[in-house]
Amino acid sequence: MTGASYNGYEWRQRMKIIPAFKRATGRPYPFEEEPCAMCGDPNRAPGNWHSEDYSEPFSFEAPESFPVCGVCHSRLHKRFNAEPGEWKLYCLFLASGGYGSEFTKCMTLRERRALAARISSEERIELASMRELVDRPNWWEDLTLDPESLEAPWARPRPLRPRPDADAFSTAFKQFEFSETERSILRFHSASSRRTASMRQIAKAVLGVNKPQSVNLAYGRLAKKVCGELQWHPDRRADGSKIWMSLFAEGWQPAVREYEWTMVSTAATAAKKLGILP
Ligand SMILES: [Zn+2]
Repeated sequence: MTGASYNGYEWRQRMKIIPAFKRATGRPYPFEEEPCAMCGDPNRAPGNWHSEDYSEPFSFEAPESFPVCGVCHSRLHKRFNAEPGEWKLYCLFLASGGYGSEFTKCMTLRERRALAARISSEERIELASMRELVDRPNWWEDLTLDPESLEAPWARPRPLRPRPDADAFSTAFKQFEFSETERSILRFHSASSRRTASMRQIAKAVLGVNKPQSVNLAYGRLAKKVCGELQWHPDRRADGSKIWMSLFAEGWQPAVREYEWTMVSTAATAAKKLGILP
C-alpha cells in the first residue's frame, strides 16, 4: 500500500523499518523460510511481511511483525475498503484451513459476494474445511475496521516516541500534591474511550465549562511539572517551543472533529492508580 498510513504511522515512518532490519541483521528480510502467519501457506514470497507496530525501536518478530503471503497481506490492508462482510469471509476462509492463494479459486466472485452479504447481515455461515489447522494465534481476527485507525495515534500499539514506563510515571506522580482538578483531568483522560479526548471534552467533563483553553493551561502546567521530575524532553513545535502535553499524550487532527489527544498507555496506567490512592 504505497504511500499509505497504517495504525497511526505515516508512510515515511513505515518505510524506515526495512533499512533498519538490514542494518541490524545484514539480511534482506526477516522470516526467511517461514510460512504465512495468517493462512499457513509455506510458499510465501520471501520479501513479504507485515507490521502492526512501527514504533522505534522496531521489532522484527511477532506480535509486532509477521511473515505473510501476498494475498493475506493485500486482503489485510484492503479490509477498510472491502464490501461489508468480505474481510470476515476471508477470516472464515483462513479458519477453515484455506490458503490465501486458494480463496478466489475456491469461490467465484458471485459466491463470495453472496456469502459476504449474508455475513454482513449477521448470519452465521460455515465453510467446508480445507485442511487441518496448524495451531497459531489468530491475531488478524481482532484488527479494527475503523478507517480512522490508519491515521489516529490511538491505533499505535506503542507511542511513536518512547515514553516513561508506568512505574516511572507512578513514582513521579507520588512527588506531587495534585489538586482535585489535576486528578480529575488525569482520571477522565485515562478512562476516555481509546484514551482519547479533545481539550474541550475534558474541560466540559472536569470543569463543567466549554473552554478548552482552561484545561489546556492546567494540563500543560501539570505535564511540565512531571516532565521536570522525569527529566523527559517533550516534543517541540516548529518554532522550538516545548509541547509539555506530549509527555502524557500523542496529538492528532481528525478530519471532522477538534484536535484530540491520545493518552499513552503507561501514563494512563499510572493515572488510574493515582485515582485510588488516598
Ligand atoms: Zn497467507
